[in-house]
Amino acid sequence: MDHVLLGNTNLEVSKICFGSLTIGPNQKNLSVKKGARIILDAFDSGINFIDTAKSYGTYPYIKEALKISKRDDIIVASKSYAYTYDDMEKDLHNCLRSLGINEMGIFLLHEQESEHTIRGHGPALEYLINARERGYIQAVGISTHTVRAVKAAAKIPEIDVIHPLINVKGIGIKDGGSGEMLAALKVAHDKGKGIYAMKPYAGGHLIPSAKKALRWVLNQRCIDSVAVGMQSTEEIMANIAWSKNQDVSQELRDRLRASPRILKVSSWCEGCGNCVERCSTGALEIIEGRAVADNERCVLCSYCISECPEFCIKIY
Ligand code: SF4
Ligand code: SF4
Repeated sequence: MDHVLLGNTNLEVSKICFGSLTIGPNQKNLSVKKGARIILDAFDSGINFIDTAKSYGTYPYIKEALKISKRDDIIVASKSYAYTYDDMEKDLHNCLRSLGINEMGIFLLHEQESEHTIRGHGPALEYLINARERGYIQAVGISTHTVRAVKAAAKIPEIDVIHPLINVKGIGIKDGGSGEMLAALKVAHDKGKGIYAMKPYAGGHLIPSAKKALRWVLNQRCIDSVAVGMQSTEEIMANIAWSKNQDVSQELRDRLRASPRILKVSSWCEGCGNCVERCSTGALEIIEGRAVADNERCVLCSYCISECPEFCIKIY
C-alpha cells in the first residue's frame, strides 16, 4: 500500500483509509471483537489511516484494534457536529478517552454545507485550532458533501484537511457534479490542504464497476487518500488489489456484488418525517404514513439514522 503526505500536514497516510462506519451499529453492527479483527487485517495490509465520527459508534472497535496491535503509527480521523467551544472540547476529549489514546491525527467539523455553516461553527473550530497547538491533534478540517464548503474551506488558512464526497458520477454531491467538485478540490489542494475523499462507490451504486470507480478517485492528483467503508477482510483485499490496478478473482467479484448494502425502514415507523427532512438526496418519502426508502437514490451516508426517534432505520 502506497503512503503519501496529506497536503501540508506531516501526516503520512495510506492511499486507502479504512472507513469504519460500515462495521458499527448503524450498519453491519459487528461485535467489537469481530470489527476489531477486520481493522487489524486492514493494518496488516498496510492501511494506517482510519476514519470515524462521534455519531458512528465505532470508537470501541478502534480502541480494541489499537490495543491489540500496540501500533502507535495509526492515524485516526474523527469528526463532531459540535457548534460551541466547550462542546467541541468535550467531544475531542471523549474521543481520545474512548480510543484510549492521548493524541490523534485529525479532527473535523462534521458535514459542513457552506461558508455560513463553517462560520456558525467558528467557536468549535477555534477549540480545534487550540487543541492542535496543544498537541492533542495534528490537523483540523471539515467533512462535506458540497462544492461550496470545499471552496470556503480552501480560503481558511487554519484548515489543514478537507474530507469531501466525490465519485466518478458525482452521486451524492449536493450542489454540483464531479467536475465542479474536482475543480474546487484542485484549488484547495494547491493551497496545501490535505484531501481524503469519501464515497468512491457512491454508497454501493458503483460496485458493478468498482475497480474503475476506485481508480478514478485515486488517479486524481488533488486527492491524497480515499476512505472506503469496508465490512470484511475480503473487501479489504479487493480494495487494495484495485488500488494497485490488480484484478480479483471472478468468484470474489461475484460475492461482493451479491451482497449489496441497502437501507430498510422497520414496520414500526410512525411517519414523523424527520428522516425525510434530513436526507438531501431525496431517497426517503412518507407513503401511507410510513417512511419508504428509494435505494436507487440512497448513498448510505447514515445521516437519517440518528434522526429517527423510533430507531427504525438500518443499513443491512
Ligand atoms: S436515506 Fe439516509 S442513508 Fe440514504 S442518502 Fe438519505 S440520509 Fe443518507
Ligand atoms: S424518522 Fe423514523 S419514525 Fe420518523 S418517518 Fe423516519 S423512519 Fe419513520
